[in-house]
Amino acid sequence: MQNGIMKDWLDSSHLYGANIAYVEELYEAFLEDPESVPDDWVAVFNALPHRSNIPDDVPLSPLKEYFLRLARDNNSRISSSAQDPQTGSKQVKVLQLINAFRFRGHQHAKLDPLELWKQPRVPDLDPAFHNLEDSDFNQAFNVGSYAIGRETMPLDELYRSLQKTYCGSIGAEYMHITDTEEKRWIQAHLESVEGCGNYSKDDQIRLLKSLTAAEGLEKYLGAKFPGAKRFSLEGGDSLIVLLKELVRSSGSAGLKEVVIGMAHRGRLNVLVNVLGKTSAELFDEFAGRHDSAWGTGDVKYHQGFSSDFATPGGNVHLSLAFNPSHLEIVNPVVIGSVRARQDRRGDSCLPITIHGDAAIAGQGVVQETFNMSQTRGYSVGGTVRIVINNQIGFTTSNPRDSRSTQYCTDIAKMVQAPIFHVNGDDPQAVAFVGQLALDFRNTFKRDVVVELVCYRRHGHNEADEPNATQPLMYQKIKKHPTPRKVYANQLTSENILEDSEVNSLSNGYRDQLDRGECVVEEWRPMTGHSVNWKPYLNHSWDIEYDTRLDIDKVKELAEKISIYPDSHKLHPRVRKVYEDRALMAKGEKPADWGFAENLAYATLLDSGAGVRLTGQDTGRGTFFHRHAVLHNQDDGSTYFPLKNLSDQQGPFYLYDSVLSEEAVLAFEYGYSTAEPESLVLWEAQFGDFANGAQVVIDQFLSSGEQKWGRMCGLVMLLPHGYEGQGPEHSSARLERFLQLCAEQNMQVCVPSTPAQVYHMLRRQHIRKIRRPLIVMSPKSLLRHPTAVSSLDELASGRFYNVLDEIDELIPEQVEQIVMCAGKVYYDLLDARRKAEQTNVAIIRIEQLYPFPYEDISQLLEKYQHVKQFVWCQEEPQNQGAWYCSQHHFFAAIPDNAKLRYAGREASASPAVGYMSLHLEQQRALVQDALTIK
Ligand code: AMP
Repeated sequence: MQNGIMKDWLDSSHLYGANIAYVEELYEAFLEDPESVPDDWVAVFNALPHRSNIPDDVPLSPLKEYFLRLARDNNSRISSSAQDPQTGSKQVKVLQLINAFRFRGHQHAKLDPLELWKQPRVPDLDPAFHNLEDSDFNQAFNVGSYAIGRETMPLDELYRSLQKTYCGSIGAEYMHITDTEEKRWIQAHLESVEGCGNYSKDDQIRLLKSLTAAEGLEKYLGAKFPGAKRFSLEGGDSLIVLLKELVRSSGSAGLKEVVIGMAHRGRLNVLVNVLGKTSAELFDEFAGRHDSAWGTGDVKYHQGFSSDFATPGGNVHLSLAFNPSHLEIVNPVVIGSVRARQDRRGDSCLPITIHGDAAIAGQGVVQETFNMSQTRGYSVGGTVRIVINNQIGFTTSNPRDSRSTQYCTDIAKMVQAPIFHVNGDDPQAVAFVGQLALDFRNTFKRDVVVELVCYRRHGHNEADEPNATQPLMYQKIKKHPTPRKVYANQLTSENILEDSEVNSLSNGYRDQLDRGECVVEEWRPMTGHSVNWKPYLNHSWDIEYDTRLDIDKVKELAEKISIYPDSHKLHPRVRKVYEDRALMAKGEKPADWGFAENLAYATLLDSGAGVRLTGQDTGRGTFFHRHAVLHNQDDGSTYFPLKNLSDQQGPFYLYDSVLSEEAVLAFEYGYSTAEPESLVLWEAQFGDFANGAQVVIDQFLSSGEQKWGRMCGLVMLLPHGYEGQGPEHSSARLERFLQLCAEQNMQVCVPSTPAQVYHMLRRQHIRKIRRPLIVMSPKSLLRHPTAVSSLDELASGRFYNVLDEIDELIPEQVEQIVMCAGKVYYDLLDARRKAEQTNVAIIRIEQLYPFPYEDISQLLEKYQHVKQFVWCQEEPQNQGAWYCSQHHFFAAIPDNAKLRYAGREASASPAVGYMSLHLEQQRALVQDALTIK
C-alpha cells in the first residue's frame, strides 16, 4: 500500500526525481516539525516505512535508497535540472517560503485601519531567511500546491503574489486545521484570486450604500438625540456590509433563515440597516415611547426583530435575537434557536453570532459553545462567528489587559475553525471573507470566524470621554476618515463614481430617515413563517386543559415503552428495570417514576408532539431510573423504545449533553423559544449544578417574556433532596427560583408521585401556555416503595397542585396540619405511621408557584377547626420554600391559625457533610413537625 502511495506520488509530482539532498533536507525538516513541510510531502513522508520500522536516529541513506529504488522501479523521468543539487535545494526553499506565508502571513497582514498594531517581525516571511537571494528572483520555480493555477512562477512574481494573498487586508489563519481537504479548499479559494474578490461597479455601489447607511444612521441619531446612549457602530461600519452580504449570499446558497445574535454595540444600526426596523420606530424608542401591553420591556439596544430579506436566491427570513447585557450568553441561545428551526425544516437555517474582542477571549461560555459545535445534540452545521474587534475591551481596557493570546479569536482554534482577520476599512475584503466564510461553513458544516478589525470612534457610549484613557488612539481616530469616506475616495479616485453620486447616496439615505421609513431595500414583510405562536398568547394559568387518556391507550403505550428487540442484549440491571416495566404496563406492578416519566413522553410523542430531552446523564438518568436508551451488551448499539412507537409519532430527541450548564441551558432556552410544538427538557446532573447557568435563569428564563414578549416552555429537571450527600448534592436551590417568581412568569413544582410527574409533564405540553417549568425532581423517591402510582391514576387523573392526606385520618381528630413539599413528606409519613399518630395531617404542596391558594382552601375546608399549622422542609431556614414562600403559606391558612417552621437552622452551606449529622438533623426536623406545641 505504501508503495502504491509512493507510486502515485512519483507519477504525479513535479518534484519527482529532484536530487536526494533536497529530499533529505525536507525530510529532516519533517522529522523536526511535520507542519513545516508542505502537505504533499507530509503525505509522502508519512507513507515511508520510517514511522514504524526505522528508528528516528537512523541515517538518511535508507531514505535515499528507498527513493532511488522507487524511482528506478517506476522507470520515471529524472529531469536534469532537478539533479542539480543547487537548484533542487532552492526549490525546497521556495516551497518553504510558500508554506511560511500560509502559516504566518497573517502576522504581516495590514489589518489595523489605525495602523497602531505592533506586529512582530516574522523572519520566515523574508526570502533571505530561506537563503533565497536576489539572483534567484528571476528564476522560475515550481510552486507545488500554491493554488494560483500555474505550475511554475518566477520567484519575484510568486513573492508578490504571496504578499498580496496573505499580507493584504485579509489575514488568513487556517494552517492549524488538520483536515487536508479543508486546508486545500481554503488555499484554492484564497490563492487562486490572490485574496481578493472581483467586484463589479454595481457590487461596489452596493457596498458603498451599506457603509453610507451605517455611517448615516449614527450621524443622524447623534444629531437628533445628542448624548443619548446608542452604542454606536462607528469605526466598525463594515459590519453592515458583512451582514448584508452574508444574508444575500445565504439566499443564493439556498438557505431560508438566518438567526443573528449580538450584543449592544452597533445593534441599532443592524436593526435599522439590516433587519429593516423603521427609523420612526427607533426614534419613538429614543423619545421614550413604549408599548404598555408588553411587560416591563427592555432598553432599545437589547431589542430583537424579525423580517424577511429579498436576495437573488429568494427571500430569507431574518431574526435578531433579544439579548441581555451579558455579552456572550446570547450566542448559545441563537444556536439553540437555529437547531430547533433545522429540526423542523431541515438544514436551511444559518446562525450568525457577533462577538466583541474582549468578550470572545474573556467569557467561558464561548468555549462551551465552541465545544458544542460538533456534538450530536447541539450541532447546527457550523456557525459564522463575527468578531467586532474595536481594539478596546469593555469600556477602556487595552488588549494587554483583556487577554493572554495574540489574537482575540484564538479560542476558535480549539475546534479547528478557520479564522479570517480582515481590515474593517476595506469593504471589498470584508465582503470577500464573508463569502469565503459562508462557503466554508456550507461546505464543511463547521464553525468559521471572521474578525473585523476596526476601532470605536466614540467612547463606550455617547456620553463617555475616550481620550481620558486612550489618548493616543483617539488622537489617531480623530484624524482618521470614516470607512465610508475611505471607500468613497477609493471609488472616486478609480473613476468608478463621481463625487456627486457619492453625495447623493448620503443625502438620499438621510431623506429616508427624515421620513421615518424602512431604509433596507431588500426588506420584505414576513410571510410563510410556519411557527404559529398565536394559540399560546394571552392565557392565564386557569385555562382549561385535560391530561387524561383512555386506559387502553395508556396500556398500549406502556407496553411499547417496555419492549425492545430480542436481539438487543441488555445489562442484567437494565433488563430487570424493563421486566418490571412490562409488569407495570400490565398493571401487575404499580408504576414507578421512570416508567411514568417515559410513559408521559410516549403519550406526547404518540399525539404527534416532539420531545427533546438533554442533560449530562439523561439517557440513563443520573440515578439509573430512566433508561430511555438501551445499550446492547454485545455490540454497543443503542435502541430507543420512545423512537419506536409508531410511524406517525412525533420526533424524539435525547442526548447526553456536553459537560456544561451555562451554554447548554442557554441552548435549550433558545430551542424552546423557537419550538412551541415540542416538549423541551433539560436535566441537571444534580440540581445543585444549575447555578452554573444562573445567568440563563435570571436573564432569560425568568424574565424573557416580561422583557421581550418571548415565550418559552422549557422544563428544568433539577434533582433535589436531602439524603446525606453533602453540600453540593442536596439542594437545587429552590429558594433562588421562588425568589424569581412573579407575574406568573414560571411554575415551580415538586412532584412527589409517579402520577404527578406524568401529569405535570403532560400538562406542560397540553396546556396552551409556554412558560418555564422548574421541577425539583427526586433521587431516592425514584425507587421509594411508597412513591408509586396505579395505571388508573395515570389514565384518569391530573396534576394536583396540592395533595391531601393519604391515610384515613378522621378530620375532626386532626389538631395540626403539616404542609411540606417533596421527599420529606415520605419521612414525615413514615415517622407518623410508626408512632401511630392520628392527630396530625400531612398535605403536600406540589406546586409552589403559582401558589395554589384555591386548591389549599378547598382542601382545608374539612379542617376548619385546626389552628396549628407547620411548614416542614429539609432545607435550612434561610433556604428552601420557607424563605420565599412563607407569605403565601400565611395567606393560605385561616386568619386565626398559627404557622410555625420545622426544618434545619439557617446555614451558610446548603447541607452538612457528615451522614450522621444529616440523619440527626433529619430526625429532629421530622419530629419537630409532628409534635404539637
Ligand atoms: P422569528 O422566527 O424568531 O423571527 O419569529 C417570528 C415571529 O414569531 C416573531 O416576530 C414573533 O411574533 C413570533 N415569535 C417568535 N418566537 C416567539 C416566542 N418565543 N414567543 C412568542 N412569539 C414568538
